[in-house]
Amino acid sequence: MTSPAPAADRLFDVAVVGAGPAGLAAAALFAEMGLVTALLAPPTRPDDVRTTALLGGSVDFLETLGVWEKIAAAGADLATMRLVDATDRLIRAPEATFHASEIDRPSFGVNIVNRDLTAILDAKIAGNTRIVRIEEPVETVRPLVDRVELVTPSGVTVSARLAVAADGKHSRLREAAGIGTKTWAHPQSALVLNLSHEVPHRDVSTEFHTRTGPFVLVPLPGGNRSSVVLIETPDEAERLKAMPDAELSRELERRARSAYGKMAVEPGRQVWPLASLIAERYGARRIALIGETAHTFPPIGAQGLNLTLRDVASLGECAAKALAEGDDLGGDAMLGRYERARRFDVETRTRGVDVANRALMSDLLPVQAARALGFFLAARVGPLRRLVMREGLTPSLIAPAMMRGGALPKA
Ligand SMILES: Cc1cc2nc3c(=O)[nH]c(=O)nc-3n(C[C@H](O)[C@H](O)[C@H](O)COP(=O)(O)OP(=O)(O)OC[C@H]3O[C@@H](n4cnc5c(N)ncnc54)[C@H](O)[C@@H]3O)c2cc1C
Repeated sequence: MTSPAPAADRLFDVAVVGAGPAGLAAAALFAEMGLVTALLAPPTRPDDVRTTALLGGSVDFLETLGVWEKIAAAGADLATMRLVDATDRLIRAPEATFHASEIDRPSFGVNIVNRDLTAILDAKIAGNTRIVRIEEPVETVRPLVDRVELVTPSGVTVSARLAVAADGKHSRLREAAGIGTKTWAHPQSALVLNLSHEVPHRDVSTEFHTRTGPFVLVPLPGGNRSSVVLIETPDEAERLKAMPDAELSRELERRARSAYGKMAVEPGRQVWPLASLIAERYGARRIALIGETAHTFPPIGAQGLNLTLRDVASLGECAAKALAEGDDLGGDAMLGRYERARRFDVETRTRGVDVANRALMSDLLPVQAARALGFFLAARVGPLRRLVMREGLTPSLIAPAMMRGGALPKA
């Protein structure tokens, strides 16, 4: 335990389970709102080499939370996004380049190494005396009428009015809430690594769309470094992962059409098998689902954690409303409101990414033609370009208030 007060045996307002980016952001928000919060989770994994592009509304939310300055200093600006059709098919889409300046923003957001992001959120939490942190997993979950009891392997029991499930795809809390999921696999894995390159990235992120999935280079700080997400068949991803450094560097340079000059991969490579999951509900029995507990999908278009931060902001706003109206924190009415606030956004993003992924892999001519037409319109029709950019960053009509200039809700 890293914080002396309040005591772990009191009734907490909120208990957050899981210390990935979703759980850390949620714990930081609830404590900042003035709620007495417990965070139960093993320490965040230190070997994650992934990076996250934080876009649009996520920037506003993290600013309101008081951590954006540090994130911006540790990350790299994303000023331009370039999409290149590298499928070599009969019908190909034209290249599309989107500039943040077209929608009056200096950048779309910032790309940051996950380790740096979680370290900044960890430090925010460590500085808040309303949080008790218990660095153990939750083993037993008991949803009761007026609270949820959470028990760790060493026997620490935490009771809270609202439990937030941020314990990932295989969530124990989701199971205890009796919430089912729909899951489906993809014939793809993502190879993730970071590298340096001869030609500066100039804050441009480039997506090469290939027949097996996107190959994406996203700027890292320093001008000549980028993070790579390369989606391939599982066998090919493993083959690339096992290559010697020099050979892999040459292979990536070839796949990037030498647009970045010579490349040199950095130590640390991971392969993530791709799968999708969507929860049937987002809350029940005083347990609310956020992040990968509620939705998982392939890393296409940098949507996953941005969608998650909308879950976090929305749940905070539903909690504040419940308290302001004398309602039960964690009760059915509050969870129902959260469900209604999130359903459309989660469904459309999860299905949208799925359709984009399938369209890329499909050899059917009508599908290729429809995809090429979509790209053409987005590339050439000004108002549509700007709409695609704005809505791609944050859905304007359903984003939480904190992502539309609203203040931090106070409990
Ligand atoms: C290759 C790749 C690239 C990506 N790139 C982007 C991107 O550019 N932009 C973007 O927005 N998103 C991106 N994403 C998605 C993003 O990384 C995820 O949405 C995010 O990491 C998930 O965070 P999470 O906290 O929900 O889940 P996780 O990171 O899975 O965290 C779950 C946590 O729960 C803990 N836990 C598990 N069981 C228990 C238990 N019983 N008790 C307590 N704790 C428990 C685990 O230890 C873990 O720390 C990418 C994903 C992948 C795979």
